[in-house]
Amino acid sequence: MDCPELEALALAHQEGTGEYAEHLASCPDCAGLLEEHRQLEKDLFRLADPQPPADLVARVMERVAAEPLPARVEWRVGLSIVVATLMAAVLSFVATRGPIGLLGASAARALLGWKTALWGLNNAVQLAWSTTAAPLTLSLCLLLFLSLVGLRRVATPRPAQLEVHP
Ligand SMILES: [Zn+2]
Repeated sequence: MDCPELEALALAHQEGTGEYAEHLASCPDCAGLLEEHRQLEKDLFRLADPQPPADLVARVMERVAAEPLPARVEWRVGLSIVVATLMAAVLSFVATRGPIGLLGASAARALLGWKTALWGLNNAVQLAWSTTAAPLTLSLCLLLFLSLVGLRRVATPRPAQLEVHP
């Protein structure tokens, strides 16, 4: 049997001329080779084009819109996180500084402390303020960070929702 070149076979197949159709039907060797060539070409195209399809964003948005999660519920969750964080902050202040009524007094004392330190009259007050305030500031920053992470979790769709099947 006179087999044509694989290149000629592939080219004829690509252009749909049907030039070697008869031979392919009667020669399993060439048919197999051509199929192998086609698969390889497909893989190569896939490798060479890692870009997402042009309509990926539109499809993602479609999927996100299709998700039946009302925005009102998400905002309620986010709001409760913020409220809980503020409550935790107040509670931590009460736990470290005493009754809530002392908030203003403490701030005034702190201001006084800074002022006296500035004037060089009482460095001890300023030192006491800075040493006790540091852990409180740190814990408040931590709480704020946690609440922001919580909000992000609420605002960002889970990865499963973003999954797009090509
Ligand atoms: Zn052949």
